[in-house]
Parts: sequence; C-alpha cells; structure tokens
Amino acid sequence: MITIAKFENFFEAELASSLLLENGIATELLNVRMLSMAPGLAGQRLQIELQVPASQKEMALLILNIQDSINPAEELLRAEGAILEGHFQLTSGRHSGMYVEKIRLLQNPSAAKELCAQLATLLADYDIDCVVGPAYGGIALAFEVASLLGKSFVFCQRKDGQMTIRSGFDLNGVKRVAIVEDIVTTGGSVEEVNACLSQRGITVEVVAALVDRSGGKADFGVPFLNLLQLDIPSWEPDQCPLCAQGLPLVKPGSSDKAPAPDTTP
Ligand SMILES: [Zn+2]
Repeated sequence: MITIAKFENFFEAELASSLLLENGIATELLNVRMLSMAPGLAGQRLQIELQVPASQKEMALLILNIQDSINPAEELLRAEGAILEGHFQLTSGRHSGMYVEKIRLLQNPSAAKELCAQLATLLADYDIDCVVGPAYGGIALAFEVASLLGKSFVFCQRKDGQMTIRSGFDLNGVKRVAIVEDIVTTGGSVEEVNACLSQRGITVEVVAALVDRSGGKADFGVPFLNLLQLDIPSWEPDQCPLCAQGLPLVKPGSSDKAPAPDTTP
C-alpha cells in the first residue's frame, strides 16, 4: 500500500476512502487512531494518510481528482464559512461531519451576489415574469436574481403557520414564476410556497436553490436547478464515527435557533 493523499480532517479522509471503495479500490487510513487519541496533533505534524494498493494508484488519483474538482459555488460557500466541517449536533439530535450555516450565505453581499449571478444564468432561458423567495433565506437571493433578470420580485412568509405571499404586493402581473431558495433539505418550504402560489392561479415554472441537500429526493414537478448538491451523512449519536473518534461536539446555532422544518435531514 502507498500513500496517495493526506488529510487534516477525518471526514474528508473518510469521504475519499469511501469513494475509492465504491469504485472497487481497497484503502487504508493511517494515523486515525493516533489522531483520535491526540487531536491536538492534527495539522502539519500529523495527518491522516490515505493508502491504496500501488497498482491502483493511478486509478485512485483519477477518481479523487474528479471528485476533487470542487465546483466554484462550493469553493465560495466554504470560503464564506457557509459550509463547515467538524463534528456537529443537528437540531434533529443526529450528529454530522458537516454543517451548512445558512446565515453566512448573506453576510457577505458580494459573495451572495456572485452566487445569485450563477442562479440567474441558470434561470435565464425560462419564461417567467417574477422571482419568488421564501422568507427569510430566500428573500435577498430572490431579490437579487430578479434584479439581474429584470423581473419583478415578491416574497412568501409564514403567517400563523401558513405560507402566504406578503400582503401588499400587486400580483396582477405575476403569472409564471421561479422560486429561489437558499437551501433545499426536505423541500417542505418550497412545496408550501408552490401550493400558496397555485391557489392564486400563479404557475411555478422552475425552482432554483443554491444548495440541494435532499440527496436527489426533492421533486417539485418542475425543473429543479441548483449550484451544488450536498449529500451530508448523519448518524444517531450512538452510531456516530466522529464520537467514536472522540472529536469534540459542536451545537451550531443552538443559542438562537428555533427548530425549523427545513434545516435538518
Ligand atoms: Zn458524534
């Protein structure tokens, strides 16, 4: 066996390893146990080494390079701290090695605008007259996309638990719309927006999101476009490999976040 890659992060190493295993290449991860006993060593001094049989090195590199060519949206989201890696307790109580911090999407408007420009490009060929965003995450994004496409904008919000179009908007010119959302996890919010628009005789032509976390399960009956698909594994605490590694657990957003239907797997 020879080392073909080194990782500071267990999750990344495990991801690369499982990708190779799926492709029939045997792997070994070195230093995992050492790092679990002494996490302080992680970094330049001690890294997890991914090994494969020497005869399969080329194939393994090929597979990992393909996976490695991170898409620009993912690169940006990581740079903005919107995609975090570590050991997280989700609002569902399950544990995960990755967390999407939605609010970071909006903290740097120039990054958000860049992502919106990519969404607008995807939506350019659709015959729509308005872009609709669900509160709160979708509002700024839908507004920016509408602006870029030269279309009108409205937003939906929950009122007494019911998804509604914010009162006061003039809906006379709103017939065919695109829904723009930040992250689709279960797709529940988008379904609700869809239903509320249908009741008004408004047709949803297309749904677009920055990130699809549904694992391909979201199906709105219209084209669903996204910049990035993230399949984030999560585990019950007693089956969590990161707990087994002894990595400290983080509860992101626990201070101010009420459990929302669209934030947990
Ligand atoms: Zn855990």
